[in-house]
Amino acid sequence: MDAPTPAGPVARPGEPAPWCGQCGEDLTEADHARCVRAAPLEPPRYCAHCRRRMVVQVIPGTWTATCSRHGSVEQPTWG
Ligand SMILES: [Zn+2]
Ligand SMILES: [Zn+2]
Repeated sequence: MDAPTPAGPVARPGEPAPWCGQCGEDLTEADHARCVRAAPLEPPRYCAHCRRRMVVQVIPGTWTATCSRHGSVEQPTWG
């Protein structure tokens, strides 16, 4: 297992991520400028690949968001 590099809300290299992890809307339709700004600070609520609700755990310094199908992504928070 290689550790994925979080490049966004549960972004996986080589796989399209059609859904916004922050608001759960279609990335090609709505305006996600706010979501993009929030992404480094707030854990995603939706899986970018299947739009399932993610289970989010926040511990000091790190959050982990888990999709039951696509696994989890972990990212250190700023500060
Ligand atoms: Zn969005
Ligand atoms: Zn998923």
